[in-house]
Amino acid sequence: MLRRRQIYLPQSLREQYFRALHYPPSVGHLGVEKTLRRLKSRVYWPGMRSDVHTWVRVCEPCQRSKPERRLPFGKMISARPRHIFHTIYIDFYGPKPKSTGGHTYAFVMVDAATRWLDVRLTNSSDARTSIHQITKFCQRWGFPKIIVSDNAPSFRSFEFQSKCRQMGATNRYTAAYHPQPNLAERLNQSLKACILAYIDDHTRWDLHIGFFVLAINTAYQISLKYSPYQMVVGQEARYPGDIDSDTDDWSNHCLRQLPKIYICI
Ligand SMILES: [Zn+2]
Repeated sequence: MLRRRQIYLPQSLREQYFRALHYPPSVGHLGVEKTLRRLKSRVYWPGMRSDVHTWVRVCEPCQRSKPERRLPFGKMISARPRHIFHTIYIDFYGPKPKSTGGHTYAFVMVDAATRWLDVRLTNSSDARTSIHQITKFCQRWGFPKIIVSDNAPSFRSFEFQSKCRQMGATNRYTAAYHPQPNLAERLNQSLKACILAYIDDHTRWDLHIGFFVLAINTAYQISLKYSPYQMVVGQEARYPGDIDSDTDDWSNHCLRQLPKIYICI
């Protein structure tokens, strides 16, 4: 895996850089540890952990979305598959109030091996929509062997199960209140926390979904020791303001770019 150079950041730029890698929807207000990892893969300064702690503690969107992040999750019982996109978890997020974009649901798919998140906005949670979205997923990532879902009627339907069989996949179901969590439901909570941190108008809940997915996919996962993005793509995602080569003048580049980054993403 390629690692980016770490660069010493002068005091005058630290809080501004923290904001650039914590506030925009593409980084999602994901808390102390994930923000710290994102910073550490790019820059360093003495006392970084303590500074990040302080800034996150007073960050208003983080406080607003925090209860959602603290929902207790059970431990995954099954072993993590060795192959990427071998086992995927699916779930619907919603129903939500109809957005200005016409959406009431998001179809959430998570790869069990890498925690890679794929989200598609929909206006229904029926079997036909599920089939359409699973097909799109397969077109992009290949055919999974196992598809795990809850017992929602659309996932239990003959139509959906037949389509999965045709694609060579076996359906598995998590029972309600079963201690083994559905990974897609878990990621649904992360998505919900991101929405709470940014959106106060219920008809705009889908506005930044694409960037929230990027934020979650590029966030370091302690259990994996990498981000899902690193595991699937093989390197870290590039963000505006990242330095590309040894020849870039970091200080000037940073001073020039940071205000723009904070406004744009
Ligand atoms: Zn925050």
